[in-house]
Amino acid sequence: MAPRHLRTVAYFSMEVGLDPAMPTYSGGLGVLAGDTLRAAADLAIPMVGVTLLHRKGYFRQHLDARGNQSEDPFEWYPEESLEPLRPRISLTIEGRSVQIRAWLYRVVGVSGHAVPVYFLDTQVPGNGSKDQALTDYLYGGDARYRLCQEAILGFGGVAMLQALGYRNVKAYHMNEGHSALLVLALLERERQNGDLENVNEADIEAVRQRCVFTTHTPVPAGHDQFSMDLVQDVLGKERAHFLATSQCCLVDTLNMTYLALFFSRYINGVSHRHEEISQTMFPNYPINSITNGVHALNWTSPPFRRLYDRHIPEWRHDNLYLRYAISIPLEEIIEAHAEAKRELVAEVERRNGVRLRPEVMTLGFARRATAYKRGDLLFSDLERLKSIAHQAGSLQIVFGGKAHPKDEGGQAVIRTIFEAARSLGDKVPVVYLEDFDMVLAKYIYAGVDLWLNTPQKPREASGTSGMKAALNGVPSLSVLDGWWIEGHVEGVTGWSIGDSWEGEVQPSAEIASLYDKLESVILPMYYKHTREYAEVMRSAIALNGSFFNAQRMMVQYLKNAYLATTEI
Ligand SMILES: *Cc1c(COP(=O)(O)O)cnc(C)c1O
Repeated sequence: MAPRHLRTVAYFSMEVGLDPAMPTYSGGLGVLAGDTLRAAADLAIPMVGVTLLHRKGYFRQHLDARGNQSEDPFEWYPEESLEPLRPRISLTIEGRSVQIRAWLYRVVGVSGHAVPVYFLDTQVPGNGSKDQALTDYLYGGDARYRLCQEAILGFGGVAMLQALGYRNVKAYHMNEGHSALLVLALLERERQNGDLENVNEADIEAVRQRCVFTTHTPVPAGHDQFSMDLVQDVLGKERAHFLATSQCCLVDTLNMTYLALFFSRYINGVSHRHEEISQTMFPNYPINSITNGVHALNWTSPPFRRLYDRHIPEWRHDNLYLRYAISIPLEEIIEAHAEAKRELVAEVERRNGVRLRPEVMTLGFARRATAYKRGDLLFSDLERLKSIAHQAGSLQIVFGGKAHPKDEGGQAVIRTIFEAARSLGDKVPVVYLEDFDMVLAKYIYAGVDLWLNTPQKPREASGTSGMKAALNGVPSLSVLDGWWIEGHVEGVTGWSIGDSWEGEVQPSAEIASLYDKLESVILPMYYKHTREYAEVMRSAIALNGSFFNAQRMMVQYLKNAYLATTEI
């Protein structure tokens, strides 16, 4: 662990995906948080992570024959993965005193540096049963439950770091608005006695100097909001009064994004496009951009790890070296990919009993199932799809993804995919793998031949799954949105759906473009010009793997956000 006197960056995230045995993430945001902490460990940055324990996790997904989703709690045993820590802190929630403890996970980087991650937990003897359950479910319960959790993360996290002996936290990095209440905790510390009544500009500025905020949501409705009545119930009169009268809140709602924006010195979106969108949404705040990246070693499959180790052994320590993948012989790229594909095919058979054919072009689509990602766009015209597979070359498709239990639209997308699969039959085999998680993700990202990404622009703030595919030599066919606007070079790193990121969404034009490119460009290249296809695979690694990784992202946070804020 980093010596406590060192200046520290505290990274707060409601979800963190570090280990598949710990179901403390739901999708891209949490996996990104895990990759961020891994990159900090690689670069020996004095960072600590703070999140909640989520004893019942996100959930285990079950799908019936028609694609109806049901959910079971994901029971796991923190004592098997985490080290219990001694300190207890207490926090007043809804007028009751709630005890909080923490568990430690160490993320170890390539050179052995460890970044500690603290998982906050209210299952402490002495807490009532309702309070013991407050850190059980990730994104579960109602608004009250969520606000209680955000109070535990924000206030509890700041207090726990103090109790653990961190005296020199120079930057508090809020990964999305869920942790924004930490700014109030810091403000109360500025006031010594905690009184918010006499907060002055200097106090606010002192907090602002230490706060960094990354927003991830390009639509206003996606931002967490709570009614002031609820805020008063949960946080108490004084805090509610302060929030209601400060400029960071709208009249009768607490918007966590506004709170974070108001109290942050450095604010960023997660791609250039997302910076623009956020700047339009929040014209009064300067928004920067640091495009997301994924942890290269973590997301590179064993065959490609071996390939890179042979040709560019430096890549593990410094992902920039992946640039030199451009000179790896094509045959070796093809062979490494064939191995990853065999592993996917075997895993699909093991899980679903379906035997995919390794020689058939395989498309992949696996991520949170939610309407705007349009997992069913490919099935807009089943006759056309069948005819493409018949004329231009066979196709098979692998899907995965959970829908939030309250996301009706997302669950409907899954059912539509099942319906399409039935109707396509053997003409275009489609498998939907249950209970998508980081383990399954690794098989799919590396094992398919083409990564499909069809969000409704401009709603994909960044997207990261295509970056993981690129590290494994899998090109993308994607709508121009999020990171793909930066990573796309037509016919070199993959292909676009539609030809501009600007303008209105025109589903019919996007569908036409998707089918046309598959039919006249991608399938012919895959089946008839194998070396050309392998060149695209290789360029995806050299151009995109070398840049859209978490080490590059972390260095950018260091240079632009942390160093500028705190002189670490
Ligand atoms: C990378 C990842 C995601 C993010 O996928 P997007 O296509 O960027 O939304 C979601 N879930 C898991 C398990 C992942 O590994």
